[in-house]
Amino acid sequence: MTRRPYIVGNWKMHGTRAMLSEARAIDRAAQRHMKVEVAIAPPYTLIHAIHREAEQIAVGAQDCHEVDGGAHTGDVSAAMIADAGAKFVILGHSERRQNHNESDALVRAKAESALAAGLRIIMCCGETAQLRESGDAVAFVKQQLAASLPPAETMPADIAERLTVAYEPIWAIGTGNVATTDDIGEMHAAIRALLIELFGEEQGAEVRIIYGGSVKPDNAAAIFAVPDVGGALVGGASLTADSFMGIALAA
Ligand code: PGA
Repeated sequence: MTRRPYIVGNWKMHGTRAMLSEARAIDRAAQRHMKVEVAIAPPYTLIHAIHREAEQIAVGAQDCHEVDGGAHTGDVSAAMIADAGAKFVILGHSERRQNHNESDALVRAKAESALAAGLRIIMCCGETAQLRESGDAVAFVKQQLAASLPPAETMPADIAERLTVAYEPIWAIGTGNVATTDDIGEMHAAIRALLIELFGEEQGAEVRIIYGGSVKPDNAAAIFAVPDVGGALVGGASLTADSFMGIALAA
């Protein structure tokens, strides 16, 4: 890994204010391990509280709406999460794509809105078990990612800083089944080639690609050793400081 490894916790729909002590513990541990960039994406309700207390970690959101504001009951805009202290937003997570029917076009609109609000984005992509078995995973992920990213000419100049791609095979999320290091390596190389095609040699090579799907302290080191793995997007194992920082330490 050439850049600082990026370890992001996706708390999903877990966490009340009782979890703030865990966020504090993660923040304290992150201060002792500055060679790793640590971030957490809690539910919306905890963004501001964590932002106010955190000294080292960045806080982000797990989604945002695609427009700035208006008559959208129950939705939260990119500008609002930025105002609450979020520095980044996870977009296109498979749980959003599957449970909320988010299309590539919608995810792209959200990305445009988030970038315009000054946020960094973590763009998720990944194939189903069926696509993996049929041998079409690489082609599918490349197409999904290309369709979910805004056109290169509309992206900010510092895109290598603002964009992270998270490869998360759907069948590996929350299941304990991790992709093999060969499969991760093959997919990250394909994503790297696509990023270079889209953003050019220099920027495309700099964008971080992180892996997600059942990353745990005991498998993290092997995953981080794969070329072009720049960190991890961690669900279940990010809910306690011990397991989350166990992963960060392996980076
Ligand atoms: P998991 O989730 O680590 O619990 O598999 C990863 C994710 O969905 O981002």
